[in-house]
Amino acid sequence: MEKTIAIIRGDGIGPEIVGEALGVLDAVAKKFGHKFIYKEAPMGGNAIDQFGVPLPEESLKTCLASDGVLLGAVGGPKWDAQPPENRPEKGLLKLRNGLGVYANLRPAKMFPAISAACPLRKDIAERGIDFIVVRELIGGVYFGEHKTETRDNERVATDVMSYSEHEIRRIAHVAFQTAKGRRKKVTSVDKANVLTTSRLWREIVEGVAKEYPDVELNHMYVDNAAMQLVKDPGQFDVIVTENMFGDILSDEASQITGSIGMIPSASLGQPGRPGLYEPIHGSAPDIAGQDKANPIGTILAAAYLLRYSLGMEAEARAIEDAVSAVLDEGWRTGDIAQTGEKVIGCREMGRLIRERI
Ligand code: NAD
Repeated sequence: MEKTIAIIRGDGIGPEIVGEALGVLDAVAKKFGHKFIYKEAPMGGNAIDQFGVPLPEESLKTCLASDGVLLGAVGGPKWDAQPPENRPEKGLLKLRNGLGVYANLRPAKMFPAISAACPLRKDIAERGIDFIVVRELIGGVYFGEHKTETRDNERVATDVMSYSEHEIRRIAHVAFQTAKGRRKKVTSVDKANVLTTSRLWREIVEGVAKEYPDVELNHMYVDNAAMQLVKDPGQFDVIVTENMFGDILSDEASQITGSIGMIPSASLGQPGRPGLYEPIHGSAPDIAGQDKANPIGTILAAAYLLRYSLGMEAEARAIEDAVSAVLDEGWRTGDIAQTGEKVIGCREMGRLIRERI
């Protein structure tokens, strides 16, 4: 098969980790007889430097014309002083919106080989962690009106959170569909004791649940969910929640599995349109350019791209198996290494995974 993949290297460690993921994709192409055509799409701080905006129109067009988009990470202190509408993260929000990707799937799965990196109590870690956070991605407070005004001689800042029925319904369907292929349990997370958006959320999710009688549904307030994630993460199969709660909970979820550097994410919209695949971490400016980054999150994101956008299940599995094999053999980047374990760099980790495809 011949497929076009849009490549956003981004800022900080972005170019390093994307470079390793492309090496792995090349190994997959060679083994399975495919041709992947990579089209560069600058975005983030580097695009601000080059083109004055975080997401040039040309980059968005390249992404829309592709079969899937692979992204490293964007942002960094260099661009922190940019006006809010021209910050690197704006490029990301614009890209998600432009692609119409409303569902973000973030797995929290602990690889047995690195269970020692799990910060939870041993008995909790040993019960296993394997769930997916399905986060609504293009609605809620991140996309509502933001304003600062002066009232009674002081500044008052306002961010508006709103959700419509169709936005909730479509993400609920993604969650129930995902659960059908797993352990058939959905936990819907909200703050229905306080927020009107959450009350509508709960009502619509309950309506959608009727279409999936084989999937169990329970509701949980977000504060309780944050606590349950560290107390008993084994209880979760699929968590569905709105944009901001999902942003926070999925970072917590990633940390309990060992390292933020290990987790991929898939952002999906209408079937047939390109999905967006990226690691869940940021551009890690503190370790950029030092060959210290863990490329596994990005490499697993490339596997997700093959699975969800290109329909290449065997190829995706080949990548996931190669990652497991390298971890089982004891290879570690700094973020997942325990005291006394030998630490390898980003390039070496990429090379080892490539070799095992
Ligand atoms: P971060 O995820 O970049 O880093 C948090 C910590 O985790 C750092 O100590 C970092 O070194 C470490 N880390 C992250 N990824 C790692 C990896 N692959 N291997 C090893 N260690 C890793 O979060 P931050 O420091 O809050 O943000 C840095 C920049 O990234 C900011 O400009 C932020 O806006 C941006 N950001 C971008 C995205 C994105 O592009 N999707 C997401 C989050 C943050």
